[in-house]
Amino acid sequence: MPLAEYRKKRRFDVTSEPAGKDRPASRKKKKLAFVVQKHRATALHYDFRLEWGGVMLSWAVPRGPSYDPKIKRLAMHVEDHPLEYAEFEGIIPAGEYGGGTVMVWDRGHWQPHGDARAAYRSGKLSFTLAGEKLRGDWTLVRMGGPSRGGRKENWLLLKAGDEQARSLSRGDVVKSEPLSVKTGRDLDEIAAGKAALRRARS
Ligand code: MN
Repeated sequence: MPLAEYRKKRRFDVTSEPAGKDRPASRKKKKLAFVVQKHRATALHYDFRLEWGGVMLSWAVPRGPSYDPKIKRLAMHVEDHPLEYAEFEGIIPAGEYGGGTVMVWDRGHWQPHGDARAAYRSGKLSFTLAGEKLRGDWTLVRMGGPSRGGRKENWLLLKAGDEQARSLSRGDVVKSEPLSVKTGRDLDEIAAGKAALRRARS
């Protein structure tokens, strides 16, 4: 039951987050989704999720992604989330697990470099992102020692050197691109329940 931990933490009669369907890993060749959700809970962080095996593999990145290949961002591995979670933007009630505000900060497709299953297990996953904000080649690397079972481990999220890479002195994507790609709203507007905005991203 890949989503058992996810479901155990949440009360679906209270939160509007999806319970998710159990589904077998797709054998069809299709594009794999990714999403980055900006989540203002106890502390602001960015939830980085990659579709794999019928779930969203998930990491919490406190400082968010950086296009600077010299910057290594801590990415704490967390429980698998349902595929439906990639669409979730809204409010998690105070007192519930992850209580706060969730924004769809970026979304698109990802492509693993080589055998994703083996790479994920070995703790070094390289891939290309085709999102609205995040593009190009990236790597997730597990820190230290053998796997303890894949949960609550510290990984690092890194930009690979390519045409999209740029120094942090030339701008920080989490600051220059603060709004929802789904609704154009900022966190306060989502928290206030404002309607989606047709606001062009700069
Ligand atoms: Mn989160």
